[in-house]
Amino acid sequence: CGIIACVGSNDAVDTVLTGLKNLEYRGYDSAGLAIQNGTDLVVRKRAGKISDLTDGFVRELPQGISGIGHTRWSTHGPPTDANAHPHTSASGTVAVVHNGVISNYETLRSELEGHGYVFESDTDTEVIPHLVEHFLDNGLDSDAAFREAIDRLEGSYAIAMMIEGEDTVRAARQGSPLVVGLHDDAYYLASDVPAFLEFTDEVIYLEDGDVVTVDEGSLEITDLDGRPISREIDTVDWDP
Ligand code: GLU
Repeated sequence: CGIIACVGSNDAVDTVLTGLKNLEYRGYDSAGLAIQNGTDLVVRKRAGKISDLTDGFVRELPQGISGIGHTRWSTHGPPTDANAHPHTSASGTVAVVHNGVISNYETLRSELEGHGYVFESDTDTEVIPHLVEHFLDNGLDSDAAFREAIDRLEGSYAIAMMIEGEDTVRAARQGSPLVVGLHDDAYYLASDVPAFLEFTDEVIYLEDGDVVTVDEGSLEITDLDGRPISREIDTVDWDP
């Protein structure tokens, strides 16, 4: 339903939680976030209100400069803690938030289960982190593993992904909206502008097929084959 991500923010926990609260108006049944803290990718998620997430978890959350967050509106699997996003690979190396529906998830799931990957949720989304991990296990680097995984997906998606030990956020869209926000050295990604409008009004509207790599101080937009794409920066002229 809703995605927020940030890289280069002073306090990613605070930024992502603010983004999640700004996304509340869209409706949701679960919420969660992943924060990169040095070498650890810390994931917290649960069914219920965003305040349930913050009350229980935030005080123990570590510092980080990058993170991804999600408000879920279930399409595949009931609203439970296990079905909330981010979804992770078995080793916890890969964390993914997703809006939309992966229409070929049953095929991908049985293929991945055949390779020994163990699933913990009923969602269509969970195939994505396992796919990325599968390609990492096969020796691809993070960039290539993400692209190969995206290439296997059918259906509609806006996706943001993090890999343990990297501050980078990678994202892609096909049939579901995704917007970049820029402010000095910080970057934001969201399913819609209100999620980050209090941080910046400089935005890039992504298009279907765009793949985005955001690092501290750098933003790269390419097609699925890695060819650079340039997109205009717009200024949003409405108030939060
Ligand atoms: N299909 C995914 C799920 O059911 C994502 C739903 C959403 O867009 O929130 O978890």
